[in-house]
Amino acid sequence: MTGRKGRLVRDASGATVYAKRNDGLVDPDGHKVTMEKVNLAERKAFMNGEKLVAIISEAASSGISLQADRRVPNTRVRVHITLELPWSADQCIQQCGRTHRSNQLHGPEYCLVMTAAGGERRFASMLCKRLQNMGALTKGDRRAADASDLSNFDVDTSYGRKAMRTVLELTESPDFYSQTPPPKHVRETLGLALNADLQRKWREYLEIGQDALIECGVTDGRDMDKVTVKTFLNRLLGLPIRTQNLLFSHFAAELDEQIKKAKEEDKFDEGVVDLHGESLSVAAGYPHALANDPSSGVELWLHRIDVDRGISYERALEMVDAKKAANPDGALGKAEGFYRSEKSILGREKEGLHGHMILLQRPVKAFALNPVPIFKVVRPSTGLGKDTSLKDIAYLYKKVEDHELLRKTWTRLYDDARTVCAHGPNCKEKREKGDCKVGLRIQSKFVLSGAVLPFWEQMQQAVGYVYHQASDRAQVRKISRMRIVRVRCNDQDGKEVRIVGIQIEQETIITKLKAALARGSADPAGAAAASSTQPDVKPDIKPDVKPNLGGAAPAPKVVYRSGAPPHQNKGALVTIQDLVTKPEYNLCGGYICDYDAKTKRYSVAVMTGIHVGKVLALKARNLLPRSM
Ligand SMILES: [Zn+2]
Repeated sequence: MTGRKGRLVRDASGATVYAKRNDGLVDPDGHKVTMEKVNLAERKAFMNGEKLVAIISEAASSGISLQADRRVPNTRVRVHITLELPWSADQCIQQCGRTHRSNQLHGPEYCLVMTAAGGERRFASMLCKRLQNMGALTKGDRRAADASDLSNFDVDTSYGRKAMRTVLELTESPDFYSQTPPPKHVRETLGLALNADLQRKWREYLEIGQDALIECGVTDGRDMDKVTVKTFLNRLLGLPIRTQNLLFSHFAAELDEQIKKAKEEDKFDEGVVDLHGESLSVAAGYPHALANDPSSGVELWLHRIDVDRGISYERALEMVDAKKAANPDGALGKAEGFYRSEKSILGREKEGLHGHMILLQRPVKAFALNPVPIFKVVRPSTGLGKDTSLKDIAYLYKKVEDHELLRKTWTRLYDDARTVCAHGPNCKEKREKGDCKVGLRIQSKFVLSGAVLPFWEQMQQAVGYVYHQASDRAQVRKISRMRIVRVRCNDQDGKEVRIVGIQIEQETIITKLKAALARGSADPAGAAAASSTQPDVKPDIKPDVKPNLGGAAPAPKVVYRSGAPPHQNKGALVTIQDLVTKPEYNLCGGYICDYDAKTKRYSVAVMTGIHVGKVLALKARNLLPRSM
């Protein structure tokens, strides 16, 4: 279906001749189809199942419906292949909409085809962003499918900007930066071995990068702060393929590293996420109402969701079979399959119980230059775990050959993990504290739903913030720990329920929240007054200030003076000193968020060292001014 009038066809003698598209095309009444109605006739043939492949061009792609409509004979699943990603996301959405419309029996499967050239990802990135904004993409379903994780392509983010800046900075002065060996993630992606050649090769790369980025006008006389990720990727398109791939791989490795770091520090904003697990159910006695919003009468509900992470043997086989089917040759990869630990599990030596897991290789990223194969790890007790490379487990695990033994042990581990923690039946923690949940199959998560907005402030107080400073001179950012989750699970009667709400990680936070809510309902005026002195509520810190890396104008700073009126010290950077009961915080850098006149203490957010994000209530004498 195109805007063309004719096409080239091969005749009986093998010669190609030009023929009109309506030649020989007749409608059901036997009349010749007019040129204006060719596309309609072709569409009909496709929807009736007389033709199973439809080729549509840009020109014909608006308005036409090709979905697996319930009302037409051809209700097969549509596989929609896009050969050339359009330049605009709107256009792409338009095209995708041809096969994805209302009244369809099932949605289409999209295949977006592109090359691995670095610059081309710019379009994929933009498209992905749009799809995400439209809510068309989620973070995969709860059965942990990962084949279509388009977030992989989302590079135009704050992490993307940081990654790009790193690349630009490094390549700007090869003389200087080649003196320091590159970090592991950069070495791996660029394929630089850790040997005597490292410095020379690293320098070579930096110089290639420098030349290329000047040549394509990214760093030529521009203020580095003004280069956007979009420009960067656009300009990369003009470079020779090898060079753009090198630079892009470096950029992608830095991006992954930024995201990894942010996740470790609990600062990665994942948007709305789904709770994952093999089966999810609402625990008995839940949900119950925590509070009632007087103005709307809507209640704030607390759900406890029991997430079963365990993978039964049958399910494990299912996963392996699914992987086989997805692999190009229909078989498992060389390193894929079941593994058994060489040593028995700690605490289970007497029983001779060994750890078991499945390794399934993740799809190799299309842009990786020297890909180290990465494997998904699935265990009978805890399900999907952290990704690993073969190198990391080769000494500990060997591939399983005996499948009868495997079935027995796997099932035993699966059944055990319902009640026995990872430390075995003689767990010390359990003996001493009465309970240990490490490695148990079922984990409880809490979700608040219903009248979430009226009680937002109390929830925010209970959940708290993390504090983050991108660089020495940047403003401190205050990031809420509030996480929105989407849950699809079964209630006590086995009926499916869907919940969207705020996830609460620890039970202790619920206790805090209950206290905050009780204060609120007992005396609204008092609660309002009390909350204004709460350290977490007053937004003294500008929420989303751009880090100031240019150095032109340093961020406004407050210098801590121990004798000054306490409120004047808000926002000052300090060094913590002389703590006796909590010596581990001494010499940590911090940031004064507030002052509590009642206790005469400052609330200080720790910003350096391993305690980053902790908020302490400290006396003035435990603080020293700290320079930027
Ligand atoms: Zn234990």
